[in-house]
Amino acid sequence: MPYAMCNLCGTLTHLSVGDVHDWYETNHPDLETGDIVPHPCYFCGVDLSTGMTVVVRTAERFNGDIKKGDEGSIKRVITSNGFSLFEVTMANGKSYFFVRSEIRKAVQATARCVVSKNEMAERSA
Ligand SMILES: [Zn+2]
Repeated sequence: MPYAMCNLCGTLTHLSVGDVHDWYETNHPDLETGDIVPHPCYFCGVDLSTGMTVVVRTAERFNGDIKKGDEGSIKRVITSNGFSLFEVTMANGKSYFFVRSEIRKAVQATARCVVSKNEMAERSA
């Protein structure tokens, strides 16, 4: 079974595929069968845009000013040469710059949850 590692945050995911060799030939012809596959995870694969509510995944850079689980709203997405930074306004009214792996789209209360709580914990750990 192939493993994918998120190229943005490093989360490791076990991929369930049919024939492993065929899957590599079809989807990753440039890799050897069994190679780890670089692929954005469930949280990093969603495009983030201005106005979206996001949740902080890791806040190690912020010295306690911002905590994991805090919510904010994307004020601005700064993109240049294919790379993006996200300016987010937090509940305290201040704005901070985040990199993609530090935030995820907030799950709306009405949205159907397709990931179990255990998986969420593993993926956000
Ligand atoms: Zn990720």
